[in-house]
Amino acid sequence: MNQIFSDVAIIGGGIMGSAVAYHLKQADANLDVVVVEMDPTYSRASTTLSMANVRIQFSFEQNIRISQFAFEVLEDFGEKMAVGDHRPDIAFRREGNLFLVDDSSIPSAEAAVNLQQSLGCRVEWWTPEKIKQNYPLYAPEHLAGGTFGFLDGHFDAYAFLMGYKKKARSMGTRYIENRVIEVLTDGSRVRGARLASGETLSANCVVNCAGAWAAEVARSARINLPVDPVKRQIFVLDTAVKPQGPLPLTVLPSGLYFRTETGGRILLGKSMPQDPVGFDFSWDDKRFMEILWPELAEFVPAFDTLKLLRGWAGLYAVNTLDGNAILGEWPELKGFFLANGFSGHGLQQAPAVGRYLSELILKLPRTLDLSCFGPERIVENRPLSEKGLV
Ligand SMILES: Cc1cc2nc3c(=O)[nH]c(=O)nc-3n(C[C@H](O)[C@H](O)[C@H](O)COP(=O)(O)OP(=O)(O)OC[C@H]3O[C@@H](n4cnc5c(N)ncnc54)[C@H](O)[C@@H]3O)c2cc1C
Repeated sequence: MNQIFSDVAIIGGGIMGSAVAYHLKQADANLDVVVVEMDPTYSRASTTLSMANVRIQFSFEQNIRISQFAFEVLEDFGEKMAVGDHRPDIAFRREGNLFLVDDSSIPSAEAAVNLQQSLGCRVEWWTPEKIKQNYPLYAPEHLAGGTFGFLDGHFDAYAFLMGYKKKARSMGTRYIENRVIEVLTDGSRVRGARLASGETLSANCVVNCAGAWAAEVARSARINLPVDPVKRQIFVLDTAVKPQGPLPLTVLPSGLYFRTETGGRILLGKSMPQDPVGFDFSWDDKRFMEILWPELAEFVPAFDTLKLLRGWAGLYAVNTLDGNAILGEWPELKGFFLANGFSGHGLQQAPAVGRYLSELILKLPRTLDLSCFGPERIVENRPLSEKGLV
């Protein structure tokens, strides 16, 4: 049976796998990097099914710093990822993020804004009057106010992924279409991966970038990773009344979120406790009709007349310990690195995570210390506190 050799084998070629590959090659052009991706169309990858939002509005310092780096990268992505004459266009739009605050969440919102401002972020507290002034369709009167991130926005997730992938390939990364069915180990060391084709991929360093499938991959190496695939649904709306300009990603205290999309459509979603765990990509309009529409129309009365056009379902890879990333080498398996558990904010974290993982793997100085997200905290049951999860 065929054997493939590489220095680093990356399982999953979504945004994490591609960002890790790109940064590894950037740091060491001679490194042999192989990415194994079971579905190069990315039809079920979270990357392509996401809302593609980027925000500075987190409450945990390292999450804020991760987003600061994302902004730097997004700003001139076309230049950074140029391959020959091709400059990827990710259509980055800084249309803002507005997090609405009710009385019970004032203390946590204030603490988050203070921290963000102390780190130099352009975020402001807005009164209900100011919200109404800027977005006249909204009915914020019963709320305490909101926090507005001026530089937050959204971009084209597919173009972002293709930008990293094309660049990583141009630097010599090999992408293989195959499924990893087992992570191979030899005592307490990783040795590579067995592929569904029957081939073996030999590598002393294996990186789990399998997104919602991360726990399945880890389980094959007898590691119990607390990462669940959780279904989330997005709804595309055509409202009778069109807003004057773009609406920022607006997040209600209940967790309902929406924003304008190009073409005057509205994208909307809400993470709910009853969202099923599993690889379920079915989508239905029931939730929108029965729960989300009334909630939306209460805050935006003009949206009581609309057409639900379509939607989709994708998976959050939820770290059930604390909803935050798990980054680094698994303490009990040398050479097995994780970039998992990003829940609903992984797309924007890919630039910083790719850079950090490459620095860990190559034992380089860390540009941004993300050791707080290390997998030791999983083993030791030490959750991080991030109040800005959506
Ligand atoms: C509805 C929704 C909205 C979201 N909105 C946002 C947002 O606004 N902003 C944000 O930052 N994030 C958002 N996210 C989260 C973000 O999309 C993810 O955190 C991020 O894309 C994770 O990237 P990934 O590469 O880890 O996973 P994926 O993109 O899922 O990539 C993993 C890849 O691994 C492959 N794979 C899995 N197992 C194997 C195997 N055994 N062998 C080979 N290949 C394998 C899969 O085919 C897949 O392509 C959202 C997610 C969803 C579902």
